[in-house]
Amino acid sequence: MNNQSPISRDPSSMPSPLRRFFWGGQVISIRRQITLVFLALFIAVQTGLIIANYLSSRSTVEDSINTGLDQAVMAYEKIITNQLENLYLQAELIAKDFGFKQAFATGEQATVQSALDNVLSRGNTDVALAIDLDGDILAQAGSTGAFRFPADIDVDVLTDLSTRQQKKPIFVTSGQTTYEMAVVPVRSPVLMGFVAFAKALDDTQAKDLQSFSAFSLDIAFLYQRDGWQISGLSASRDLLTNFMAQTQGYDLQTLSGTVRYQHRPVDTSMLTGFAGPEEYILRVIPLGGADRGADISLLQDTVDKNASVMILFVSLDQAMDEYLVLFLALLGAGLAGVVILFFGSFFIASRVSQPIQAVSEAATDIARGNYNPMDVKWDYREVHQLSSSFNSMIRAVEDREQKIRYQATHDSETELPNSQFLHDEMGELLSRSAPFSLVIAEIHNFHDLRVVLEHSQLIELLKQAGSRLQKIIDTPVARLSSDSFGFILADPAASHDVMQAIVDGFMQPVVINDLKVDLIIHMGMAMSPMDGKYQHELLLNTHSALDQARVSGENFVHCTADHKASHDTKLSMMSDLRSELAEGHVSFAFQPKLDLKTGQLMGAEALIRWHSPKHGFVPPDDFISMAERTGDIKHLTSWTLGEVIAQAAKWNKKQPRLIAINLSTRDLQNESLPDLLRMITVEYAVDPKTICLEVTESAVMGDMKRALKILNELSDMGFYLSIDDYGTGYSSLAYIKKLPVQELKIDKAFVLNLANSPEDQILVQSTVELAHNLGMKVTAEGVEDEQSLELLKSYGCDVAQGYFIARPLPVPDFEAFWDGYDAAV
Ligand code: C2E
Ligand code: CA
Ligand code: CA
Repeated sequence: MNNQSPISRDPSSMPSPLRRFFWGGQVISIRRQITLVFLALFIAVQTGLIIANYLSSRSTVEDSINTGLDQAVMAYEKIITNQLENLYLQAELIAKDFGFKQAFATGEQATVQSALDNVLSRGNTDVALAIDLDGDILAQAGSTGAFRFPADIDVDVLTDLSTRQQKKPIFVTSGQTTYEMAVVPVRSPVLMGFVAFAKALDDTQAKDLQSFSAFSLDIAFLYQRDGWQISGLSASRDLLTNFMAQTQGYDLQTLSGTVRYQHRPVDTSMLTGFAGPEEYILRVIPLGGADRGADISLLQDTVDKNASVMILFVSLDQAMDEYLVLFLALLGAGLAGVVILFFGSFFIASRVSQPIQAVSEAATDIARGNYNPMDVKWDYREVHQLSSSFNSMIRAVEDREQKIRYQATHDSETELPNSQFLHDEMGELLSRSAPFSLVIAEIHNFHDLRVVLEHSQLIELLKQAGSRLQKIIDTPVARLSSDSFGFILADPAASHDVMQAIVDGFMQPVVINDLKVDLIIHMGMAMSPMDGKYQHELLLNTHSALDQARVSGENFVHCTADHKASHDTKLSMMSDLRSELAEGHVSFAFQPKLDLKTGQLMGAEALIRWHSPKHGFVPPDDFISMAERTGDIKHLTSWTLGEVIAQAAKWNKKQPRLIAINLSTRDLQNESLPDLLRMITVEYAVDPKTICLEVTESAVMGDMKRALKILNELSDMGFYLSIDDYGTGYSSLAYIKKLPVQELKIDKAFVLNLANSPEDQILVQSTVELAHNLGMKVTAEGVEDEQSLELLKSYGCDVAQGYFIARPLPVPDFEAFWDGYDAAV
């Protein structure tokens, strides 16, 4: 399947380093962007610089050409005028010469000729003519033998011309050449004729003039006859042919000031073709014409009026040539700059993007749980700030995580590791299949100590016991319950010795506030892998060894095959419980509670019932404690809460009843319990005030801080809280006072025999009074006879529960009983 977008470029068609650079992926990389932007900026600036430089030097060059041309125009005009004056001077000199006049008068042509030749030989004059009054040429000297004077010259005009005070130039064209001419009369004293001296405006003249110029220019003399023709020039003919072809039809004489001309050579060799047209700046100097003070009317038929010009050409491109080196240098520097900048910006961009990459790598590391501080190998302040704040963030995250982990794995009262810690450690060893021994140690006389010691002293005692254990075994010791510790011995072979060392270690009493306290320790042990390959298996076996030690009074017991067998059945029972729970073999019986003040039924306690097809009826005391050990209790509790609260919701619709649910010790260590209860009560729309939660004293005694936190939360939510089995845990009322509970439930051990036991009577009566003083209600459970009920009434006990009132009843029986009771009252 081809799911590529048709417009996406195929990166694989590019070479790989370039591809990486120009096509780093879907998201453009900072490095590439910085490099490209820098490069583009630099090239733009460089190009601008070169263009500006070129334009400014071109305008400078133009300015200097124009100034030079202005000066040249002035100089050449002067030269042309000087030449004319020189011609007049020579002509006048010869016209006044006596011998010449005589020869002219007598028509001695040879003498006239020789005089003219003589003048010519002195230079500066190209043609000399002697003309009679008829206009015929008497004699002629000069290289241009082709010079022919016009036949029909009006003698009056010649006379007028030659007698004029102001000597104006005359430009005349003969053949292919224009001449500058002076005409002077010859008198003796009557007018006999004229002498005319002329200077050719030919190539020689053009080249001479060119050589005067301080800068490089070309000169051309043009005349008009059937268009413009060349009389003389210093440049290549190609330039002029082209120029004239383009200016045909223009009145060249009117072109004043700066004139530009684009020369396109006829011969387009590769180079000139490539270079394009050559630009010239030129000046046109009109020769002759009224405005120049020239007079050529004499020569009407030979040349047109105003029909000669001198043109000065300067090639702008040639003048720019000397700047070419500069431009090449600039261009070279620019290119070098581009290369340097490319690598420079690539380098800087890499340096900038490296820290970002490092941060992202460090962040990825954090996500993986590796809190490695970022390595700062860059010398930039910002990067230092970034990495140091990043590193302090890493430390903060690490700190917080450590705290959370610590809280989750430590007992908040003794600061010792908790059961979670022990489970983690076991899991780790089991996953490596490493052999180890699991030991649970219990302070046998802890219940007795509770009666005599304050809570803080008990905690201190536990701390000391824990640290004494830790010293002996040299590994962490976890607090598992109010009076037991668990730990792991890495060398199973040495286990028995270690346990003996512990027994010896506890021969010495623990000292609390100058009080010497002897601790009696029992220990149970199981080894992995021989006594179990799974955590729950090992825990059960260890507990059963501990039970054995407790019963037999031994200091320590290693789990035996007997224990294991019985535990195997217990383990299989747990898995049966799980499946039979799903199949509906577990239900609830409800035992009514009687309000002794009103004589009305006020609520009921939900008691779990497991009628197993396989094991028969299993008493809750048997499987609840097992479920606590295997961890199944969590699931069992949440199921119980759901079932009982759903039932309570049904009854609540008719009439509110206080339905009591038993929580196990483990439930009070589970911090998600309040959330679970909130969810269920919201789901069934049940007011928490109608739900009583029964908690045993020992459950609160475990990790008291945590238990208290959960109890406070539940109390804040409005649940009715009751201390169950009161009297069996030896905890003082002063301590219970601190708990957010509304009710004390006196254990059935003190009630069953109430009628016949004066001690129980004293105990129950004083408990009722004390509890009332502390603002608590009192429930008595295990009321089996009328006498006891009457006694409880007389003590002011609030609620009674027992077989005498009713046994725990299945739902239909319970409902029938309640309705019947109501009807009877
Ligand atoms: P408990 O909370 O002390 O419950 C009272 C026990 O006393 C019940 O035993 C009840 O049947 C029994 N009882 C009530 N009245 C009398 C009487 O007049 N005479 C005598 N001899 N006994 C009476 P049960 O149902 O066997 O429950 C035993 C224990 O199992 C309960 O003790 C409670 O700790 C636990 N349990 C029961 N249901 C649950 C439950 O749903 N969840 C949890 N976590 N524990 C439960
Ligand atoms: Ca109970
Ligand atoms: Ca009880």
